[in-house]
Amino acid sequence: MVPGPTDKLPIHSLFLEELGEAMRELGQPGYRAEQVARWLYQRRVNSFDAMTDLPAGFRRSLEERYQFGALESLRVLGSEDTTRKYLFRLGDGSLIETVLIPASPALYGESSDRRTLCVSTQVGCAYGCKFCASGLDGFSRNLNAGEIVSQVLRVEELCGERVSNLVFMGMGEPLANYANLMRAIEILNAPWGVGIGARRITISTSGLAPQIRLLAEQPLQVRLAISLHGATDEVRQQIMPVNRKYPLQQLLEACEYYVGRKKQRITFEYILIEGVNDREQDAAALVRVSRQVGAKVNCIPYNQVDGLEWKRPSEARQELFLSILERAGVPATLRREKGHDIAAACGQLRRQSLPVSGG
Ligand code: SAH
Ligand code: SF4
Repeated sequence: MVPGPTDKLPIHSLFLEELGEAMRELGQPGYRAEQVARWLYQRRVNSFDAMTDLPAGFRRSLEERYQFGALESLRVLGSEDTTRKYLFRLGDGSLIETVLIPASPALYGESSDRRTLCVSTQVGCAYGCKFCASGLDGFSRNLNAGEIVSQVLRVEELCGERVSNLVFMGMGEPLANYANLMRAIEILNAPWGVGIGARRITISTSGLAPQIRLLAEQPLQVRLAISLHGATDEVRQQIMPVNRKYPLQQLLEACEYYVGRKKQRITFEYILIEGVNDREQDAAALVRVSRQVGAKVNCIPYNQVDGLEWKRPSEARQELFLSILERAGVPATLRREKGHDIAAACGQLRRQSLPVSGG
């Protein structure tokens, strides 16, 4: 595919005030900003040409300066429970994944009309967690805000339904792309934009302590999930290289700071991997750190990744692990799988579609 023009700004990266400035620079009245925003986020057109109540010359000027996020849908996989996985090609040919999950009761409680979209923030990932498909081929680049916002718009267009919740649990480490992430969230949250409530947006991080503190200072009440996966330095280090940079205690202190500022409970995600972090002593350590932070725990049976040797524990072991948390009074859930059949763990679909690169 021909790479898209890089000198044009993605129109979906702009705040309403910035749209207003852009309009003024083009000699247009300020109200054009609201008009354009309505075309982008209410009527959801895919070209400036379709903005039929704008003067033709003005539409051409917009066309010369701004671009629409070209998310080309390459593959859509759906599983029986209608979890749907989209593989998108970006303007420069990069591949990303976005996953639509009809309900995620294990994570966020029962609600039948809930549709959660799992959004990517980077192409690849630099953090190299040993169990994760996204990190296997390294890091290519950050997504810009427009590319993040466009995943939501594009999936809603393709499936014909509105998304109610967002989780930044797709490919990439969201907090390593902090500025673009926050910009996208503001647009996704804004009444003039996509209008998704902040409490329905969850950022997941592998544990970037300084950025967790930054996020704590941010006024939006977005939710935070920590990919903990190990409750001691020893275990965490074995599977998550980021733990060397931000050891467990430093991470937990950042979490406590976040909880204190936001007055909000956070979630620890904990993938259960056989023989690595699923022993009784691991559960006991998890009880301790969860109490320290007042976190709830979401246990996720490991999803097999081609080329990696990790295994998911037996169901009996998963239930035993959960029961230890529950008996200790730690709010905990166990995801009883969705999407396992469509390579749902992040990065897997993209990986199947990439040219073979070893590993
Ligand atoms: N980089 C961020 C967000 C993307 S990963 C983070 O790590 O939190 C989203 C979630 O998918 C993380 O909790 C991650 O640990 C989990 N995950 C990655 N590979 C997985 C696998 N093979 N099976 C189950 N969960 C996996
Ligand atoms: Fe990156 Fe998250 Fe995967 Fe770790 S789990 S490699 S941080 S995407």
